[in-house]
Amino acid sequence: MELARLKSEFVSNVSHELKTPLTSIRMFGEMLQQGLATDPDRRARYYGIIVAESERLARLINNVLDFSRMERGTKSYEMQTHDLGDLLQEAADTFGNLREAEDLDLRLEILDEVSARLDRDALVQSLMNLLTNAVKYSGDTPRVVLRLRLAGGEAVVEVADRGIGVPKKEQRRIFDDFYRASNVRKGGAEGTGLGLALVRRHCESMGGRVEVESILGEGSTFRMVFPAA
Ligand code: ADP
Repeated sequence: MELARLKSEFVSNVSHELKTPLTSIRMFGEMLQQGLATDPDRRARYYGIIVAESERLARLINNVLDFSRMERGTKSYEMQTHDLGDLLQEAADTFGNLREAEDLDLRLEILDEVSARLDRDALVQSLMNLLTNAVKYSGDTPRVVLRLRLAGGEAVVEVADRGIGVPKKEQRRIFDDFYRASNVRKGGAEGTGLGLALVRRHCESMGGRVEVESILGEGSTFRMVFPAA
């Protein structure tokens, strides 16, 4: 019963998440088509919005597709040794260029040089999901630290925010499929409840794990841990 409820909420959430960017794309596309944007600055802004919203749609659809591949058991991982510092830098650059990151103060801290065996796309997608959440659940002035360190032979990748935090008793469940915690359900930011489920599945499939440490009202630190190569 609970799963059926979560699934039906999920379908409604996904439809809503698809609709929002589509509406913007259509609206700004139509304004351009009708020649309503006469000055070049405004036109550039509209084109920018269309590109950014399409990227948002692409990320959402990638999450859903990856999730369905996992469910059907057809998701495969291309495991290779990667310098994690390079991957974090790349993720920070990519994320920094997104519209979500407009007011974001993102600090990258590479404390150790660490490599690990993993699938590059799965790691970057996981980082994007964690960074998106860090911003989405941080209010108006998100401050986020993306950190890499070596601890006891393990590579530790952390995304730390000072946002709304996750209630203690829900900290395990937020990694479940479709689960959205009580901190966001009532009138909070939109979402599908798939982001963290994917992060957990990716990490576990790559021989690692994901953890959270959080205090309600103070912030959260999500930690992906992999055996160092
Ligand atoms: P959603 O699409 O709802 O963001 P996720 O699977 O990414 O789905 O996250 C599941 C839930 O965990 C969220 O709905 C929210 O309740 C909580 N959560 C995730 N990241 C954070 C964060 N950085 N701060 C506070 N709560 C978070």
